[in-house]
Amino acid sequence: MLIITTAKEMLQHAIKQREKELKIGFIPTMGALHEGHLSLIETSKSENDITVCSIFVNPTQFNEANDFNKYPRQIDADLLKLKTLRCDVVFVPDVKEIYPQPDTIQYDLGVISEIIEGEHRPGHFNGVASVVKRLFEIVIPHNAYFGLKDYQQFLLVKELCRRYGLNVNIIGCPIIREESGLAMSSRNQLLSQKDKEIASNIYKSLLSVKNVVHEYNYRQLESLGVRLLSSSPEIDIEYFLVVDKETLMPPTDKNAKLIALVAVRVGEVRLIDNMFL
Ligand code: AMP
Repeated sequence: MLIITTAKEMLQHAIKQREKELKIGFIPTMGALHEGHLSLIETSKSENDITVCSIFVNPTQFNEANDFNKYPRQIDADLLKLKTLRCDVVFVPDVKEIYPQPDTIQYDLGVISEIIEGEHRPGHFNGVASVVKRLFEIVIPHNAYFGLKDYQQFLLVKELCRRYGLNVNIIGCPIIREESGLAMSSRNQLLSQKDKEIASNIYKSLLSVKNVVHEYNYRQLESLGVRLLSSSPEIDIEYFLVVDKETLMPPTDKNAKLIALVAVRVGEVRLIDNMFL
């Protein structure tokens, strides 16, 4: 497994692979790898000649300093996991490699960047757009793999490629969960065992709402979701929304395909999850 730390070397390596007409699959991550990340790598390995995983805790996408400082970092364990999976290349840049100059670009990604997570985490999606665009320029992948756990991010990256002419095929991969139903996340490491049990109610609430999707309208489904989550007083609800899965807006048509999107805090840890209904 090749470990690359500079943008220049990464780009040169990627160009060489392309010259050999090898297909590059890419998985951008912030490390503290779990089975969710590893499933993306396995999918990439099955669909490409070369799989590149990046590990970079991107400062520009954190809208809370505390969240950035506490974000789990465990590079040695990550490298071991990637090696075991036979990932071909790991790109581990430092901040200067990604942002030689401070990043000041404001991306215009339309409504998708402004609503829901965009509203609750000001600046977050601009940071995601800038790091993804920069990484795509350095890794020049054919295919890039994103988890549907961050569903709005997945739509945002597709929009980034469309609006900014990035020629990368964006592939969404299913949410990997703990046995309890809790969606895997690097931030779960910051939860106590009791917190994890409490947080598994997020999945249970989503599932209960899915089970009655044909009986209620979207507002009633949202109220039900909030009521179910509220039965755990330790869960601080930011939102429980039922929206059109294409536009992330309230459904306007009874045939619209729906998704429930949730953000909560358990203690100081912010968790998001979702489910197609
Ligand atoms: P992160 O390291 O949190 O930035 O995540 C890197 C990639 O892994 C993103 O595309 C995430 O959506 C994806 N991911 C994170 N958690 C999961 C999960 N539980 N299941 C599937 N994909 C995930």
